[in-house]
Amino acid sequence: MTSDTAPFDFEIPRIVAAVKNAGHTSVLLQFPEGLKRNAIDVAFQLEGQLEDVDVQISGEPCFGACDLPHHPEGLVVNFGHYPIPNLTHEGDVIFIPARSNTDPIPIVRKALPELKGTVGVVSTPQYIHRVSEIVDFLSNNNIIPFVSKGDDRIFKKGQVLGCNISAARSISKDIDMILFIGAGNFHPLALALGTDKDIIIVDPDIAEIRRINDLKDRVLRQRHAVISQAKDAEIFGVILSTKPGQRRQILARDIVKDLRKAGKKAFVVEMENTSPQILDSFSATAWVSTACPRLAIDDHLAYNRPIITPPELDIILGKREWEDYVFDEIV
Ligand code: SF4
Repeated sequence: MTSDTAPFDFEIPRIVAAVKNAGHTSVLLQFPEGLKRNAIDVAFQLEGQLEDVDVQISGEPCFGACDLPHHPEGLVVNFGHYPIPNLTHEGDVIFIPARSNTDPIPIVRKALPELKGTVGVVSTPQYIHRVSEIVDFLSNNNIIPFVSKGDDRIFKKGQVLGCNISAARSISKDIDMILFIGAGNFHPLALALGTDKDIIIVDPDIAEIRRINDLKDRVLRQRHAVISQAKDAEIFGVILSTKPGQRRQILARDIVKDLRKAGKKAFVVEMENTSPQILDSFSATAWVSTACPRLAIDDHLAYNRPIITPPELDIILGKREWEDYVFDEIV
C-alpha cells in the first residue's frame, strides 16, 4: 500500500487472488465518488501484480452496491460497499469495503460525555469492522450499546445505507440515542429524518464529534416547500430506475394509479441516471422518484421541477399528514 491509499485498506492481495483463481483477463474497478482519487493508484498496484490482465477504471458515477456495472469480460471490483444481500447480479463481482485504518476509539472516548443511557451503534463499511470493539469500549464506560442486524438489504450488523436505516429503526423503541461512526452527513441525515432520536456523529477521519439538528431542520423546511410546489402540479412523471437495486416497479405503477385517481396526469419514465437535462425534456410539472430516495432529498436544488419521494406524495394525496413525515427507504 502506498501513502496515497494509506487511510483505507483496498485489499490488493484479495483482488489479485480473485482474478488469478478465476482466470480473469479483465478487471473493472468501480469507486464511489469519495474514493475515486485513489483509483489510479489502486489500478497501478493491480497492474504491477497482474500480468496480461486489462485493468480498467469505471468513470461512471457509483453511489452504492445497488449500482453495479455490466462487465461480461471479467471481474467487477466494487469499492467502498458491502453487497446488498437480497440483490442478485450477473457476472463475477467482489466487494472491497475500503476499511479505514484510522483508530476510532480515541474520538469515541472524547464523545463519552455526549452519550447517555442505551445507545444504538451504527456505521458504514469503512468502520463496521470496529463496531464490536466500540461496543466493548462503551460497555466498559457505563453506556449500554445496542447493535441490530437490520433487514435483508443489510450485510453487516449495525450497517446503515443512505436508503436503509433498518439497523437503527428496528431498535428505536429500545434506545435513547444513536451513535454513528463514520464520515460525512449522508448516512446521519437518513438516521435523523427516519428516527426521532438524537444522533451523535463521531467522525474518526477528521477526529470530529457533531450533531446535525440544524441540517435536519433545514432539509425538512426544504421538503415542506418542495411538497407545496408539487401540490399544484397537473402532470407528474414517475422516475423508475433501471438499476436493479433501485428499481421499484410495483411502487411506480401504484403511484401512477393513485395520481390518476386523484385527477392528475401521470406516466412512468424509466432511466439509468437522472439529470435536469433528461427530466426537462418531458412536459411533467413535478416528479416522483421511485429510484434512489436520496435523489429527491439531496439533489433537488439542481432540478427545475419539484422532485418528491413516494411518502411525500402521500401527503399531497391526503393519505398522510405532514406531522407524520416518513423518510423514504428501500427495504
Ligand atoms: S439506492 Fe441510493 S442510498 Fe441506497 S444504496 Fe443505492 S445509491 Fe445508496
